Amino acid sequence: GAGIRFSDVGVTYPNGHHGLRGIDLDIAPGEMVAVVGLSGAGKSTLIRTINGLVPITSGGITVGDTRVDGLRGRALRDLRADVGMVFQGFNLAKRTTVLNNVLMGRLHHTSAWRSLLGAWRRDDVELAMQALERVEIVQKAYVGAAELSGGQQQRVAIARTLAQRPRVVLADEPVASLDPPTSHVVMRDLQRINAELGITVVVNLHFLDLARRYGTRLVGLRAGEVVYDGPGADADESV
Ligand code: ADP
Ligand code: ADP
Repeated sequence: GAGIRFSDVGVTYPNGHHGLRGIDLDIAPGEMVAVVGLSGAGKSTLIRTINGLVPITSGGITVGDTRVDGLRGRALRDLRADVGMVFQGFNLAKRTTVLNNVLMGRLHHTSAWRSLLGAWRRDDVELAMQALERVEIVQKAYVGAAELSGGQQQRVAIARTLAQRPRVVLADEPVASLDPPTSHVVMRDLQRINAELGITVVVNLHFLDLARRYGTRLVGLRAGEVVYDGPGADADESV
């Protein structure tokens, strides 16, 4: 895993809304950080600054030794290969197989002609299959992505980021559209990639109970500021 450091980070959107104000956070390699807060608190903004999806307007962010703000082109693509992302809506290509979706995680490491022809190297296919094993869904490798349940699709999305061999995985409300039992399955997969592979995980969660259960650290946001930062299990109900 890689560490992530926020130094006095602010985000002001073009319409004048403040996404974040004065964020100072030091996330160590291999932490599993759950970010909590009410709707509009800045959770999504915070997570999206880490891979440059949302540009910061003041301060600085580093992932490992890489300064994120100001990255462009090839350097930004390299960062995004190193920092995988999982979304609330899964974002799978529905018309193709699970395996092909996971192979998309290898695109950055593959020549354009190979990916266009589907002429994947054996190593890439092996990595993709290992990633599917890691989230215990390898039996669905040749099934069409559209045939899977929401929870299964999210696990495939996690496998796709794993195929990138990232040092950091960001998950923006990954269980917000799943029922409670399925949410636990997906959270356990995130916990497993954190514990077994040492990947630093930052996950936004709407529900405090999930955050306390799965986060080794809890960061609470309100109006773009950090109002709680502490161990998951000891979190205060008022967050
Ligand atoms: P959360 O993820 O906790 O719901 P967000 O990060 O989405 O919070 O939003 C934080 C603040 O930034 C809110 O005031 C929201 O209205 C504003 N905001 C978020 N995204 C945008 C955007 N694309 N343009 C303008 N304002 C935005
Ligand atoms: P080793 O010491 O054998 O390299 P690792 O713990 O690094 O063992 O890896 C164990 C397995 O997990 C290997 O199959 C490897 O391909 C896979 N793996 C390791 N790190 C990652 C990662 N960041 N993303 C996806 N798979 C990984």
